[in-house]
Amino acid sequence: GARPSAHLDDFARIFGIETEYGLSVTGASRPCDAGQVAMMMFQPIMQRVRATNTYLTNGSRLYLDVGAHPEYATAEARTPGDATLADAAGEHIMRDLALDAQRRLRATLGQGATIHLFKNNADSAGHSFGCHENYLVRRGVALGQIETQLLPFLITRQILTGAGRFDGVRWHVTQRAAFVDETVSSATTRSRPMINTRDEPHADPESFRRLHVIIGDSNRSQWATTMKLATTHLVLCLMEWGARHGEETGLESIALADPVEANLAVDADGPRAALRLADGTTTTPLALQRRVLGAVLRFVRMRRDEVAASLDGDPLMTLDDVLGEWERGIETLAYDDEGAGLADRADWACKRRFAARLAARGAVDPMRLAQLDLDYHDIASGALFASLTRHGMMRALCDDARIERAVTTPPAGTRAVLRGAFVAHAEAAPVAWSCDWTQLRLTAPVKDDVMILDPFDAVGDERYARLLALIDGACGTGADMAV
Ligand code: ATP
Ligand code: MG
Ligand code: MG
Repeated sequence: GARPSAHLDDFARIFGIETEYGLSVTGASRPCDAGQVAMMMFQPIMQRVRATNTYLTNGSRLYLDVGAHPEYATAEARTPGDATLADAAGEHIMRDLALDAQRRLRATLGQGATIHLFKNNADSAGHSFGCHENYLVRRGVALGQIETQLLPFLITRQILTGAGRFDGVRWHVTQRAAFVDETVSSATTRSRPMINTRDEPHADPESFRRLHVIIGDSNRSQWATTMKLATTHLVLCLMEWGARHGEETGLESIALADPVEANLAVDADGPRAALRLADGTTTTPLALQRRVLGAVLRFVRMRRDEVAASLDGDPLMTLDDVLGEWERGIETLAYDDEGAGLADRADWACKRRFAARLAARGAVDPMRLAQLDLDYHDIASGALFASLTRHGMMRALCDDARIERAVTTPPAGTRAVLRGAFVAHAEAAPVAWSCDWTQLRLTAPVKDDVMILDPFDAVGDERYARLLALIDGACGTGADMAV
């Protein structure tokens, strides 16, 4: 049904996750270039739409730049749980493309040829690739506040949502920390910032920005993906409320003296890392997360109904779930900084517990550990993550049927619904089309386009209805279409 648009005075939000995947091939009868294999993966897409950049019936974007890092960007989601399902659907789609390419590859490179598709952020050669979180944020929140209030939260949330990485010598809490070297910047090619400020809101630019967070890890844990978005959402709600009412948020005192240094400290030392604050005091990621949670709890007590409403319809977690898991996560780490108590939900702790169990049975070759770390992230040929899940050592928040539905169904209550239906109709008709996040375009046999600037518009206007009717009409005309 119809949903109201985002207003400047409520807490509705749009969430989107972009995931770049890493690719490699083993067991082939001759050396095999990952870039070529990526092209093979996208052959079916090329055949269908004559491009390696397209949108799908679930509203998401699937694309391949030059190189070997296929990317899936989820459609706009109204809740963290919807975005997590959309991201899991992306894994599903990527896995199918990889396994299909593998069948073709084996015809020429032997039955041993195996495609590995990594949902992580670093390859063995030391290259890094991203997982971007996108949040629709009200413009009242100043960029300066993003740096002094949000960034300390983002850096320290990694003790809960870091994906963990074994570098051949030791474990890191995150995949990504070693590869970012700047805080807030509009460039991403030369510098590697934690938050990108390139201003493309894909919404009314007067009112909103699209916060583009690039400090986060790709997660395999559904809990971690959901919590990463949900806790960030709550901090943003608090900051928007503060900006709207000219109130202090309680986050004024968490500014870090050196965010890049702090980020590396969290990565290396985990929950008890020493962090220097801008006010000259020192703290730890645990204590800083406790302060943020405390501020959020005070705020939620004041605005409970409105904040809960912003998470209405979340398929995976309620507001109380999020707050409870957040608090429990912090307190678990407070008495156990190896994170064993979170090993069934936090990726880094899960991998570390598994490694510790192996070590308890005898010395483990570091090469083998590095391989297991990679295997955990291999969504095409990896066995470890599925096995951990089967044995209850990693918790799933939803079943496969639900994810399969998200492969073809857009997240509810956003313009992804309109885009998804547009793509479905266009693919079934002899027409040429294109789209992006805000536009739907018919290019042949007739030209027409519709702009949807409100990301919460899941209903569409007469122009949208006419566009769909034009597409459906093209099916009946039998016109000769050179598309
Ligand atoms: P790059 O890959 O170069 O970082 P990008 O971040 O500009 O590109 P995409 O890869 O196309 O863009 O992904 C955009 C993401 O933003 C998607 O996940 C999408 O769902 C999300 N998104 C779209 N509109 C909005 C919006 N108004 N607010 C927040 N997120 C949005
Ligand atoms: Mg992208
Ligand atoms: Mg991006």
